Amino acid sequence: MVSFDEARAIIIDCVQPVGIERVHLLEAAGRILAEDLAAPWDLPLWNNSAMDGYAVRWQDCASSPCTLRVTGFLPAGSKADGITVEAGSAVRIMTGAPTPDGCDAVVPVEETDDGQQEVTLLEPVTKGQHIRCRAEDVAAGVIFARSGTRIRPPEVNMLAGFGMALVPVYRRPVVAILSTGDELVELGCTPGPGEIINSNTLSLAAAVQEVGCIPRIIGIARDNRESHREKLREGLNADVLITSAGVSAGDCDLVRDVLDELGAQQMFWKVAIKPGGPTAFAIYGSTPVFSLPGNPVSTMITFEEFVRPALLRMQGYQKVLQPLFKAVLRGPLSKKPGKVQIVRLHLEKERGCWYATSAGNQQTAILKTMVDAQAIAVLPAESSHFAAGDEVDVHFYGNHIELELP
Ligand code: AMP
Ligand code: MG
Repeated sequence: MVSFDEARAIIIDCVQPVGIERVHLLEAAGRILAEDLAAPWDLPLWNNSAMDGYAVRWQDCASSPCTLRVTGFLPAGSKADGITVEAGSAVRIMTGAPTPDGCDAVVPVEETDDGQQEVTLLEPVTKGQHIRCRAEDVAAGVIFARSGTRIRPPEVNMLAGFGMALVPVYRRPVVAILSTGDELVELGCTPGPGEIINSNTLSLAAAVQEVGCIPRIIGIARDNRESHREKLREGLNADVLITSAGVSAGDCDLVRDVLDELGAQQMFWKVAIKPGGPTAFAIYGSTPVFSLPGNPVSTMITFEEFVRPALLRMQGYQKVLQPLFKAVLRGPLSKKPGKVQIVRLHLEKERGCWYATSAGNQQTAILKTMVDAQAIAVLPAESSHFAAGDEVDVHFYGNHIELELP
């Protein structure tokens, strides 16, 4: 039996990014950049107007108001070649158009009489106003996005602005999902006596997808060696294999035994955590194999605490553990010392402080409590009793998005 922290350290140590691929910008969104990227050219590439208005020479505008001849027009998309702002004149210019020679200020149309032949400037003018200077955003050669960065819409915008259609990102791991058990029938079938629907496969696939990987559903291994051999072999071809159930000490629990027979190297079996104690972890070549207990709550909790960080690391994330923060308990919590206890919680924020209430019956078999929880408390192994008002370490479950309703 390993401790919760040991189990995580072993896992994180065993996994690394699965490789790099160049994909189209939109496909790269949400993924992790695998190389530093340098600006291929200055951004912006030329001085240009930040406003719709008039390009002027600042020294012509010393008195206010002042009137200038309008000698040209530069809409966005036009070239400023051959256009010059002569002494005493102004060129009408639109936002984004290149500023012409001689121009050292742009006067917004709102600060003029909007004249066509002649224009009167109504406000004092400062040198350089409303001109976006070449390279003021990013100069050519500057690293504008570092390897390890998650590509969000701002990164997409800048990559697109630099014409970068193909982006080097870490590959999404393909994660094989295998359920085991003679009691299982697939979704769509009506379970007969003693049968249940294979819900873990779907919940694991959803969790794999949520974290950014590609689920590959292998199906069900029946509780005999031949079926386990066939299905496990198939699963071991993927970048990662997750199995559910058949990993405890029961007569029909064959997963570890058959993995062993197929040549997987067992890294640990049993973690001092509740729920999720029978979790096993092995390596087959470069494929990590997570054997999770079959109880749906245990499967989800152990995915969250052990598999999720590994899948994030395999995609190039640097920070892979859910950030912990403090929450004040609304009621008492008790546990036996010796194991980390995971408690499913409902969280509320009041005056900037988080308050935690138990999301319901904490027995492992109660799935509804998991449905009702947004967060998880990780109670340390040595702890035993927490009173109302005590602070505990908590984290949100999965990819949590907190939207406060009006
Ligand atoms: P086992 O580890 O095989 O003893 O399974 C533990 C518990 O999890 C049993 O109650 C199983 O019926 C249940 N279980 C196992 N596999 C699944 C599954 N794929 N979907 C839902 N429940 C499951
Ligand atoms: Mg079973």
